[in-house]
Amino acid sequence: MKGSEPLAITDTRPGPDGRKRGPRAPWVALPMQVVPVVAVSALLLGGLGLWSMLRSRTAPAEENVRTVFVPAPPPPASVYDTLRTGETLAEVLDVHGFSPQDIHELIEVVREYKSPRSFRPGVVVRLTGPPGGQAEQVLLQLNEDSLLALEVQTGGWASDVVTVPIQVDTLLLGGLIESSLWYAELTGEVERLGEGEFQEYVYDLADVFAWKVDFTRDIRRGDAFRVAIERELRPDGTVRTRRFLAIELRNRGRVLSAIPYTRPGGRRDYFDVEGEALRGVFLRYPVPYRITSGFSNRRYHPVLKQYRAHRGTDYGAPHGTSVKATASGTVTRAGTWGNYGRMVAIRHTHGIETRYAHLSSIAAGIRAGARVDQGQVIGRVGSTGLATGPHLHYEFLQNGAHRNVSTMNLPSAPALEDQYMSEFLVSRDAALDVLSGVALPAAASDFVGPAVAD
Ligand SMILES: [Zn+2]
Repeated sequence: MKGSEPLAITDTRPGPDGRKRGPRAPWVALPMQVVPVVAVSALLLGGLGLWSMLRSRTAPAEENVRTVFVPAPPPPASVYDTLRTGETLAEVLDVHGFSPQDIHELIEVVREYKSPRSFRPGVVVRLTGPPGGQAEQVLLQLNEDSLLALEVQTGGWASDVVTVPIQVDTLLLGGLIESSLWYAELTGEVERLGEGEFQEYVYDLADVFAWKVDFTRDIRRGDAFRVAIERELRPDGTVRTRRFLAIELRNRGRVLSAIPYTRPGGRRDYFDVEGEALRGVFLRYPVPYRITSGFSNRRYHPVLKQYRAHRGTDYGAPHGTSVKATASGTVTRAGTWGNYGRMVAIRHTHGIETRYAHLSSIAAGIRAGARVDQGQVIGRVGSTGLATGPHLHYEFLQNGAHRNVSTMNLPSAPALEDQYMSEFLVSRDAALDVLSGVALPAAASDFVGPAVAD
């Protein structure tokens, strides 16, 4: 064993391209006492920050020499290594002085959990043993959430799967909107956001309020939001799960709140502070794409080259995008119908009918008389019928009359039932209490700018 190599800390992770390392990096050794906290973190390799943490914990305190009366036995030491590109697990074990017999046994034990060939470059191996002696424990990263611990025992190697400790935290963020949710000046615990993490929240936040706010039209400079997010974090700092505890959005002078609640056996839904549902009975849109042409009584038609009414909403979605029924109902028409091309029409309650036109294909089982659920895929975007290119033409009719779906006040999903209300109020108050840890950013008082997103 190469226990006599100098103690040093080197980032042995391969680069994003799995770059080759130079000579095998010097090892990291640290006393066993700090292993429970540090080792797992180091195994999952958050980043250089972790390594500097290790460094500070293991830096020799040369200037602080003291008399020691009772010599303690040297603690076991751990070393770390990383699987390199093209390197096998057996080769790593070989470098660390295991006998061919031990290597064979270890690989066979590993095989019970995961094919030894399927370990990717960058996987960290921790080996622990008496200083200068052969390692007696091997810790291997199996996947993001678990480690395989192997320990020598009389007659062979014992194995166990260790779940990576997950840390739960609460993240508080505020945002003052410059032009859109994407362009907001963030406040709060911004430094704890991971790469690209905020972008995910923007999507989710827009989803939660999709029925109350049209984020393509209604957002103004000076609008603001604040959110409390509960995250489950892995030791390397990546987010395992995340969910909103509470959200507040100030939009054009009104403040909207969203508090999650899950009915027993039901799905997680968002409600306002009074327990009214934020979700509509209809999905806000059948495809998650930009509106390219809105409802209009007089519009220049690019194909017909004349002005005529556009009694629907066009979404500029790529060919093949799946189209969802915006509410449950019964299919009244599925096939080709004049300028609509290939289309599906669905009858809903309250005298409402929706139409989905220019489809490239209609989903299997979608035919007149078929029942469809909200969110069910009924077809795919295309450009059949009178269309210049692939897009979805969506119509909403009530009692036979075309309605502008982006301006009408559609019915909401049912409010929270009385029997859940007291429990909801308790969790609401707790959530709002957490949210009060960050301020809803105030707009400057002279900040009544013109609409930005119109
Ligand atoms: Zn259209």
